[in-house]
Amino acid sequence: MASDRGPAAGDATLRRRIEPWEFEAFFDPRELRKEACLLYEIRWGSNRGIWRHSSKNTTKHVEHNFIEKFTSERHFRPSVSCSITWFLSWSPCWKCSQAIGEFLDQHPRVTLVIHVARLFQHMDPQNRRGLRDLFTRGVAVQIMGAAVYDYCWRNFVNYPPGKEAHWPRYPPLWMKLYALELHCINLSLPPCLKISRRRQNQLTLFRLEVQNCHYRMIPPHILFATGLIQLPVTWR
Ligand SMILES: [Zn+2]
Repeated sequence: MASDRGPAAGDATLRRRIEPWEFEAFFDPRELRKEACLLYEIRWGSNRGIWRHSSKNTTKHVEHNFIEKFTSERHFRPSVSCSITWFLSWSPCWKCSQAIGEFLDQHPRVTLVIHVARLFQHMDPQNRRGLRDLFTRGVAVQIMGAAVYDYCWRNFVNYPPGKEAHWPRYPPLWMKLYALELHCINLSLPPCLKISRRRQNQLTLFRLEVQNCHYRMIPPHILFATGLIQLPVTWR
C-alpha cells in the first residue's frame, strides 16, 4: 500500500537512515565519487528482527570501521549465527578484502553478502585478487540492480512523504557493465571495462575492450547483456 507519509512514523531506524541526496550521490554507478558509503543489515540466529545502520569512510575505510565496531560491541556473541548484508557504494579494496577474509576466518558463524554499486579501481591486480579471494571464501559479491536500489531506498533512506517508490532509476547499462567486469574478475580474465576521466570537461568515459578470452569464457547472456558487444565475425 502506498504511504502518504515518509518512513518517519513509528520507524525506529529513522535516525540511522541517510538522506535521499546522499543515496542518489553515493550510489550512482555513473559517478566516481571519492567517498564511500556502507548500508548494512544484521540478522542474529533465528531472530526475525533486522538491525540496520549506515556508515561512511573516516580516516579508515567503511569496511574496516564496520569490522571494528561489530567485534567490539558488547552484545556480539560469536557462538550465535549471524548473517550480514552490505550495500556498498564501492567494492572493497584489496586491504579491506583481506580484512574481511580474516574477520570471517575468526567468526565462522558469520555469513556475509555484499552488494556493490561500483568496482573500486578494478584495473588494479591486487584489488581484483582481493575480490576473487572473497568469491573463493563463499562471499557473494554482486552488482546492485534495480530491485536492490528499490530495497535500499525503502529501508535505508529518509525519503520524503509519498516518495516511497521514488528510488533513483539509474540506467541499467552501467549495472550491466560492472556485472560483466565482476565476472571477468571472478574468472581471472583481463579487464574488459575501461573507465577514463577527462579532466577538462569532467567527463567519465566507459568503454569495453573485449578479447577472445572473454568471448570464450563468459556466458553469452552476461557478455551480450550490455547490448554493446556483437559476435565476432570469422571470415574463411
Ligand atoms: Zn578498503
